[in-house]
Amino acid sequence: MIFDILTLFPGMFRGPFDESIIRRAREKQLIDISLHNIRDYALDRHQVTDDAPYGGGAGMVMKVEPLSACIQAVKTLRPASTVVMTSPQGRPLSHGVAQELSRRQGMIIICGRYEGVDERIRDLYVEDDISLGDFVLSGGEIAAMAIVDAVTRLIPGALGCDESAATDSFCDGLLEYPQYTRPPEFMGLSVPEILLSGNHELIRKWRRAQSLGKTARLRPDLLAKVALNDEDRRLLKGLEQEHGSAVR
Ligand code: SAH
Repeated sequence: MIFDILTLFPGMFRGPFDESIIRRAREKQLIDISLHNIRDYALDRHQVTDDAPYGGGAGMVMKVEPLSACIQAVKTLRPASTVVMTSPQGRPLSHGVAQELSRRQGMIIICGRYEGVDERIRDLYVEDDISLGDFVLSGGEIAAMAIVDAVTRLIPGALGCDESAATDSFCDGLLEYPQYTRPPEFMGLSVPEILLSGNHELIRKWRRAQSLGKTARLRPDLLAKVALNDEDRRLLKGLEQEHGSAVR
């Protein structure tokens, strides 16, 4: 997977892309990340990349010419990549969207700044519009980092143990069960005994029940979309009886 990131602040990506899973995925050549400074494509003497909005109003708008030149240059290098805009107006990033993006050959991700990007960029080039959620960031860089991170985790071989992506939250539509590691007791709190039992079938059932219970409590909207099997229904019923109130 090739990520091309178009930004006015390439320095922001130092660090997040040089550590841990992303760094290892780059070293294993599972992904390739190129940063492109939009300012390099501003051909006037002062390398201006923003201007006042037509119609008036606060702030500045990213100019169309430098960004257009930058997109065209990168598209020539990667004709098969999808042009993705980061924007609070896009479709919200979710596990499903990350899975869909992970099947693309590459992504050219545009990081907006200021009041955003001249709308003609969208009309001319943008094929997908992704939002991190219903809030406004100062720029698309953090959104681009989130997209790269969420997508990279789903590329086979990127995680130390590929199973961990399969049990992560949202993979089966549920939140993940609670996790513990040593020591077995801390500040009076013990690790659930079942996890120390070595009985894999009991552990599997306990984890499934925890996943179902957590999702029912914290994200009933997700649970409503999951196709439950007979065991799931029994486990949920057991939880309801245990807690004396409706879990669903
Ligand atoms: N005026 C715009 C917001 C501009 S914020 C509006 O109201 O829609 C500046 C840039 O930050 C945007 O161009 C986009 O690239 C990025 N950005 C802001 N919020 C975002 C979000 N929720 N998800 C993804 N990108 C976001």
